[in-house]
Amino acid sequence: MLKLSISKKSDDFRKEFRNWLGNNPPPHIEDSSLEQFERVGRAWQARLSAAHWLGTHWPIEYGGRGLSLVEEAIAQEELVRVSAPQILGLFGLTMVGPVLIAHGTPTQKTRFLSKILSGEEIWCQGFSEPGAGSDLAAVKTRAVPVPGGYSISGQKIWTSFAHCADWCFVLCRTSEGAKKHEGLSYLLVPMRSKGITTRPLRQISGDNEFNEVFFDDVFVPSENLVGAEGDGWKIAISTLMYERVVLTFSRQLQSEVALRDLVKRGSSSLSASQRLELARCVVDACATRALAYHHLVDYAEGKTPGPEGSMDKLLWSESFQRLCTFEASVCGIEALRGERGSECGTVLHRYLYSRGRTIAAGTSEIQRAIIAERLLGLPRSL
Ligand SMILES: Cc1cc2nc3c(=O)[nH]c(=O)nc-3n(C[C@H](O)[C@H](O)[C@H](O)COP(=O)(O)OP(=O)(O)OC[C@H]3O[C@@H](n4cnc5c(N)ncnc54)[C@H](O)[C@@H]3O)c2cc1C
Repeated sequence: MLKLSISKKSDDFRKEFRNWLGNNPPPHIEDSSLEQFERVGRAWQARLSAAHWLGTHWPIEYGGRGLSLVEEAIAQEELVRVSAPQILGLFGLTMVGPVLIAHGTPTQKTRFLSKILSGEEIWCQGFSEPGAGSDLAAVKTRAVPVPGGYSISGQKIWTSFAHCADWCFVLCRTSEGAKKHEGLSYLLVPMRSKGITTRPLRQISGDNEFNEVFFDDVFVPSENLVGAEGDGWKIAISTLMYERVVLTFSRQLQSEVALRDLVKRGSSSLSASQRLELARCVVDACATRALAYHHLVDYAEGKTPGPEGSMDKLLWSESFQRLCTFEASVCGIEALRGERGSECGTVLHRYLYSRGRTIAAGTSEIQRAIIAERLLGLPRSL
């Protein structure tokens, strides 16, 4: 595993966290069911946050340690090293949390931030709709002003973990602007509000992590608006920039786990061509992480996450898919027979799960368009 060593401070931080993990080993998830992931995840997140190991780059007054994204990345790295389960409240930690720190009112910060860190309140992301995915500005869900707040009506789709979330950050239309991205607003909606219906969608992997979420005249008080009315597009884009960098960093570490499993199962029995492919997967994983580190160092020096996060996202998601395809091919027909929870079952599950990685958080085509237009300065296609 590549190590991020930038300063004595970051090395000391790693040592301290490693010691803590030695005394507080992470729970093991026996099967890959969502129910177990949620139950174990809540307890594990509570333990980590009680010791201030989550949101280490958040300001101290909001429960963080006031450190940089480098330390946050080191924490993720150490969690992977000990095979800890993925943080349940990742959307809160990596998306709505940073958005509230940057754009929230003092009341919103006090009300929400500590519960995001502790996992007492789990968040989901209500952006995509049946007619608005890559073209996010086409959002049609409406929030109509009513006395004391807004009434929301419409439908969201692909809402991960909506079934267990307490809150949703929703991008909705508050007025018709001259351009599509005008007139959008960012609202914080309690998932137990009257008028919300959540329907699970079964995925190819057998999981029900996705949901359709229907809003039928859902009342949301004005104090749950983030930023000003009409600021939704600007805030949504800053959420996506964070998502692509911070969330992607933690997710690309999943490649390390898959690689480790692959090598553990016996790389000596691989054919010459398989060994070459394994070497390529290792090189891809190292290159992906080296690029993510390069960007992290810029952020640690005060740069705000921008379109370069699309490079991280593209590299991570495509190399993860390639690795999972290779892993499944090494397992061969056994992967298809693998029972859930068995070694081959894990390989099959990971392969099927990896298919969505080049779609979630923006498809590969969209990342390539961002890189072409915003980083390389190429002209927009007609
Ligand atoms: C695992 C996973 C988790 C997700 N979680 C959430 C969530 O929690 N909350 C949420 O709001 N959304 C979530 N999504 C939805 C995700 O953001 C969208 O699926 C994604 O933005 C693509 O939108 P779409 O599905 O509508 O596809 P479309 O936008 O309809 O795209 C269909 C195809 O057309 C291509 N395409 C579209 N426009 C262009 C263009 N301009 N140039 C070139 N090609 C183009 C796309 O690349 C794609 O191949 C999740 C998706 C996945 C797979």
